[in-house]
Amino acid sequence: NILVAIALLAAIFRIYRADVGKRLQLERELGRAVRNGEIEVMYQPQVRGDGAVTGVEALARWRHPSGTLLSPDVFIPVAEESTLISDIGLEVLRQACDKLEAWSGAAHTRHLRIAVNVSPMQLMDEHFTPSLTAVIRQAGIDPTLLELELTESALSTNTAAIVDKMRAIETLGITWALDDFGTGYSSLATLRQLPVRKLKIDRQFVQEAATQDSAQRLLGKIIEISQVMHMSALAEGVETVAQRDLLIGMGCDHFQGYLFARPMSESMLDEWLTRQ
Ligand code: C2E
Ligand code: CA
Ligand code: CA
Ligand code: CA
Repeated sequence: NILVAIALLAAIFRIYRADVGKRLQLERELGRAVRNGEIEVMYQPQVRGDGAVTGVEALARWRHPSGTLLSPDVFIPVAEESTLISDIGLEVLRQACDKLEAWSGAAHTRHLRIAVNVSPMQLMDEHFTPSLTAVIRQAGIDPTLLELELTESALSTNTAAIVDKMRAIETLGITWALDDFGTGYSSLATLRQLPVRKLKIDRQFVQEAATQDSAQRLLGKIIEISQVMHMSALAEGVETVAQRDLLIGMGCDHFQGYLFARPMSESMLDEWLTRQ
């Protein structure tokens, strides 16, 4: 009946409008947050099988004026719908490069690398490469200590253009890691063409491997792929000694997860590093 249909449509429209309104408000607040310096970076250590720290991953947080620390799962997807992702990404890059510069003075930190997440939209922004070059030059850091992470799913569209961009950036000395590997749809043919040094195995595989035999075999195959491709393999979300030992047995060479350390503020990280 037509009246019911109209009422239903009106209700759907009201819900939709409320949603869009909320998103726009979040977008406005986020723009202000970037200008006000509310974007903070936490750092999570990455280690080798023998426990030695090789570097850290930079993870964005939003220090909201209300006092809460907001997770990137809340604001990165909103930022990705506008050019805000480029502003946030650049802010994270700046902080990470400043950190690398601060580390370059001490023997126990000068070799450490920082991995920074890059969104596909941000990568394809024409300002990205010039901004990246400028940030590196301003900080005066060795670009080989900077690693950029792109999620495997970013390769599902626009593959050729993305691969070209990645190659151009590699010539600056920066290395690439493929994030959340195993959850995207990149073909092995694409993988071979990528200027990628490291596969980051999604924590889903790591966590399921303990209980599911098929997941465990899959994990082994993913590590084998990394070896065939001459890439290193980093397992994400390692929470237990059993997971770590299983992964070491399979030939995985890098690890990240709560077993070793949680993401930490800059000052906590420096303390943690002196204790290592
Ligand atoms: P990601 O890049 O896959 O980062 C790893 C996430 O796993 C982080 O969540 C980290 O805190 C969490 N994690 C690490 N070890 C463990 C563990 O042992 N167990 C479990 N359950 N979780 C673990 P976080 O910091 O909340 O970041 C979530 C996502 O937000 C990131 O996933 C990344 O996709 C995105 N993100 C964070 N910072 C940035 C950024 O600066 N730029 C962009 N584009 N995305 C970012
Ligand atoms: Ca990442
Ligand atoms: Ca990941
Ligand atoms: Ca992720």
